[in-house]
Amino acid sequence: MIKRSFIGFTKPLIAYDALESAPPEPKQIQTPKKITLFIDTPYNYKDSLLLNIGDNVKTGQRLSYSEDNDAYVIASATGTISSITSILGDYGKSYTAVTIDTNETEEMDDHFTALRKDPTFDTAKNYLDSMPGKPSFNRFIDSENSIDTIIICGMDADLYIKTNQYILKAELEAIANGIRILKDITQVDHVIIAVPESLMQDAILLGTEVRTVNTEYPAALPHLMVKSFTGQAVPVGKDFGDIGICFFTAEAVASIGKTFANGSIPVTKTFTFIDKNEIKTLVSAKIGTTVSEILDAFDITLDEKDRIIFGGPMTGSAIYSADYPILPDTDAIIVQARDKLDYISDYPCINCGDCVRSCPANIPVNMLVRLLEAGQYEEASDQYDLYSCIECGLCSYVCVSKIPVFHYIKLAKYELDLTRTAEATNA
Ligand code: SF4
Ligand code: SF4
Repeated sequence: MIKRSFIGFTKPLIAYDALESAPPEPKQIQTPKKITLFIDTPYNYKDSLLLNIGDNVKTGQRLSYSEDNDAYVIASATGTISSITSILGDYGKSYTAVTIDTNETEEMDDHFTALRKDPTFDTAKNYLDSMPGKPSFNRFIDSENSIDTIIICGMDADLYIKTNQYILKAELEAIANGIRILKDITQVDHVIIAVPESLMQDAILLGTEVRTVNTEYPAALPHLMVKSFTGQAVPVGKDFGDIGICFFTAEAVASIGKTFANGSIPVTKTFTFIDKNEIKTLVSAKIGTTVSEILDAFDITLDEKDRIIFGGPMTGSAIYSADYPILPDTDAIIVQARDKLDYISDYPCINCGDCVRSCPANIPVNMLVRLLEAGQYEEASDQYDLYSCIECGLCSYVCVSKIPVFHYIKLAKYELDLTRTAEATNA
């Protein structure tokens, strides 16, 4: 495998939306009649679940999968469990979907109230994994190397999205409290907050190291921030944990701060909603609210072949049903009208080199794409640096032949990971 630095010549093309002043409060979505929560483990009907259809649950209650599997989710509403099923996410990822028929009257679960007085890492890991912003506590356990730096993203990695910039502006006190608790429970003293220049004055009030992020895409992608702030590159095939770094979003840190200050676990997600006319609105909805509820609140009708994307325009993923719920890490939803969809073709590569010039990882994308189109994933990995890709999507964006290069790359990584996991299991 070629060990190539991921930092290459970057052709600046597009800019992030930097928040200059506090935007209006997010549009509030009422608690719907049903919410659907995902537990991050595949559903097997043969398992002895700790959840049953007909169980009554309270808002903030921890819903555990089984005695043998510590996966859980926090109920974002009060009501009765009406279904437990298997659901497939992106690239074959499998979840257990728990649907709750909600009550009009909300009852708050109080198990966390006693725990808030003495914050510990175990408490955070066992209760806060599915909070808004989806904090990554497992990174502290899974990493072979100890974490010595936490980077808090006060800027979203993809374009159009203002979710974490808004949280930074609106929830400074909660973030400051969250940073104090994070330092205490993880014993990590080096905490960096990454913000655009326009939020520098807000971030300074947090009393931790502030770094500014260039507003030219893709400067806010994690690999590029790490290179800019620490001078380190993540070795090919390794993760941030391998160089002692863990990321949290500003929303996750604010959620940690609020949870321990109030004794109740936040269950409302903030996200940027972008409608068919590319109008951006910040929205606040219970985790588990379906996309169709959001569309109704905006009076949007989906027409045949319109597309819904979770995430930003460069790196987001299309979802296949408006019944898909808002997840703890859903920072943006884009609704694209069919006449505005990016055209994707099966034209051949004309070897123009635009993708190579744009690639921040310095990958010979024009060569890589030939192997990916032929399904030669091992060769793509060995000869053309597949795993150096930092998944910015610029190659697809600039491709004159409209080849979905980025999606080929994601598929190739997924297929290779499957093959390698199967080989390791057999061995
Ligand atoms: S998505 Fe494309 S442009 Fe971006 S790093 Fe990967 S190969 Fe390079
Ligand atoms: S931008 Fe598209 S057409 Fe041009 S070299 Fe890259 S893959 Fe080929």
